[in-house]
Amino acid sequence: MEGEKYLFVVSGPSGVGKDTVMGYLRQAHPEIEKTVSATTRAPREGEAEGVNYYYRTEEAFKQMIESGDVLEYNYYNGNYYGTLRAEVERRMAAGKVTLLNIDVHGAANIKRLYPGSTVVFLLPPTFEVLEQRLRGRGTDSEESVQGRLKIAREELGYAGGFDAWIVNRTVEQAAGELYELIAQRA
Ligand code: 5GP
Repeated sequence: MEGEKYLFVVSGPSGVGKDTVMGYLRQAHPEIEKTVSATTRAPREGEAEGVNYYYRTEEAFKQMIESGDVLEYNYYNGNYYGTLRAEVERRMAAGKVTLLNIDVHGAANIKRLYPGSTVVFLLPPTFEVLEQRLRGRGTDSEESVQGRLKIAREELGYAGGFDAWIVNRTVEQAAGELYELIAQRA
């Protein structure tokens, strides 16, 4: 489809810094957009409806799936997360470079739907650093952290199927590498 090359999926384990790297890049390049997903998880402190996610009940989320409004979705650590068709299609049609922050399964689904898109895997320097970051942000309960770490080990096993890999040593370096990739491909 026309415009697929403008889609850049940023994936990788929870706590690796996807939001931070994307936020840093978008501050330097405000023309780069990001999609807002729907989720059934509760907002974290500082998060806002329509900015970080569209927060929905499980019933409302399932309704959106039935209506065909959801491009792909996954059940992650006890909650549903899904990419809304409209969020992607309108940006692609307008030729806007668009970032999607989604899990590894969602990344594979987007790549299947849009083979011209680029799927990027963001890696932590070590697993210990990932664990420190996940605990250090202090936004999740111990149970949620444990669940995220367990999933992270599995997610790292999917890294091979991606188009590109960036190790997040510092936010400046990772955002810089992501920008170079976008400049090459879009
Ligand atoms: P968090 O609860 O930390 O915001 O997100 C948990 C995980 O869900 C992250 O790995 C994030 O990338 C992923 N995620 C967020 N939105 C979507 C989505 O629309 N689809 C899929 N498949 N994963 C998502």
